[in-house]
Amino acid sequence: MRLILLGPPGAGKGTQAKMLKEKFRIPQISTGDILREAVKKNTGLGARAKTFMDAGQLVPDDLVISLIKERIWQRDCEVGFILDGFPRNIVQAEKLKETLVEMNLVINNVINLEVDAEEILERLTGRSTCSDCGNMFHKVSHPPKTNGFCDSCGGKLEQRPDDNEVTIQERLKVYEQSTVPLKEFYTKEENLKTVKAKGPVEEIFSHVCQMIE
Ligand code: AMP
Repeated sequence: MRLILLGPPGAGKGTQAKMLKEKFRIPQISTGDILREAVKKNTGLGARAKTFMDAGQLVPDDLVISLIKERIWQRDCEVGFILDGFPRNIVQAEKLKETLVEMNLVINNVINLEVDAEEILERLTGRSTCSDCGNMFHKVSHPPKTNGFCDSCGGKLEQRPDDNEVTIQERLKVYEQSTVPLKEFYTKEENLKTVKAKGPVEEIFSHVCQMIE
């Protein structure tokens, strides 16, 4: 199964993608995670991407497109994959389509996670991620048992540098301008399905699973 998760920053794409990965045993491909890892390791890609990420802007299309092309050719993607955070604009969506045609593959499901604008800020400013296993927490809705440390592996929890109010506003602007048009694109292309991403994560997950064909 090949699946795309759409939605604004803070909609819970990462959380749902991780749950889907477990359930369907297919890899989660998060361009944000790949780029953050590259920044951490200070690779050439990381160095080019960092300025854009810190500013809440999209990293240039050529960088993310080649990264995705390389990733989906890998063997573990033969069984399918979950795209989390890609595509982010029409150019990326067109390129993905082209690549999949070359590979003789199709996208089976496009799930759009919808969340109210006022909730996004609250979610993003309160979240933290385990630097070792990537588990996510929130200071109100899902606090760790020990402050600052992951429940599962004991790793150190970190706040993303772009989860500050100024950068979040910029990311939301970019989402409205560049990513929202994908809803129409995928309504025409692949039968987009929308899930209200409000309430307990397990409930949202069960709605997402009901939408998956
Ligand atoms: P995310 O973890 O998906 O919120 O992404 C964090 C940041 O990585 C974004 O604000 C962008 O700077 C960059 N990024 C992630 N995915 C993409 C993409 N598909 N196209 C361009 N930039 C991206």
